[in-house]
Amino acid sequence: MKVVLFGPPGAGKGTQARILGSARGWVVLTSGDMVRAMAARPDEPGLGIKQVMESGALIDDQLMIGAVEARLSEDDCRESFILDGFPRTLVQASALDQWLERLQARLDRVIEIQVGDDFLIERITGRFGCVNCGAGYHDLHRPTEVSGICDECGSSHLERRSDDGVTAVRNRLAQYHARTSPLLPYYRQQGLLYCVPGLGPVQEVSRRISEIINGLGQ
Ligand code: AMP
Repeated sequence: MKVVLFGPPGAGKGTQARILGSARGWVVLTSGDMVRAMAARPDEPGLGIKQVMESGALIDDQLMIGAVEARLSEDDCRESFILDGFPRTLVQASALDQWLERLQARLDRVIEIQVGDDFLIERITGRFGCVNCGAGYHDLHRPTEVSGICDECGSSHLERRSDDGVTAVRNRLAQYHARTSPLLPYYRQQGLLYCVPGLGPVQEVSRRISEIINGLGQ
């Protein structure tokens, strides 16, 4: 099954993609991780990408499309994949459709995780994670038991994303509303769009997504 997890930054796409991917054995392709890897390169394109990313803007469509298509061309993506964070513009969505069409394939579901802006700002600006094991935390909702130490692996290497400050988050949300949310009618017209409320316990959101994957949800 070929699935897009859709929604604003901080809606929980990454968390839900990881849960779904490990439950079903499907590859998860997280475009933000790909961009962070590009931005970590100490060359000129890397520095340019880092600057764009840290401002909260979107990186160039063709660069993103090339990177995603290269990964999707690998064997482990032939049957199933979960896209988290891509597509984010109409240009990206139509490139993905054309690419799938050439392979005589198509998306099966686009699942929108719905969360209002007010919740998102609080969610994103409070979050941090363990660099060593990837465990995620939040200042208010999930602090570490011992300050500065990861509950899961004991590492003290905890970090906040450089684009999780209030100014960049506001810009990321503005980009979402201006450039990404127009994809909702695009996918609705194709009969692919399903929506789940993104508030509530993580397991509850996963259950709603699973129902949609199993063909039971709205
Ligand atoms: P995310 O982790 O999904 O919030 O992505 C972090 C940043 O990476 C975004 O704010 C963008 O700068 C960049 N990015 C991720 N995915 C895309 C995409 N599909 N198109 C353009 N830029 C992207």
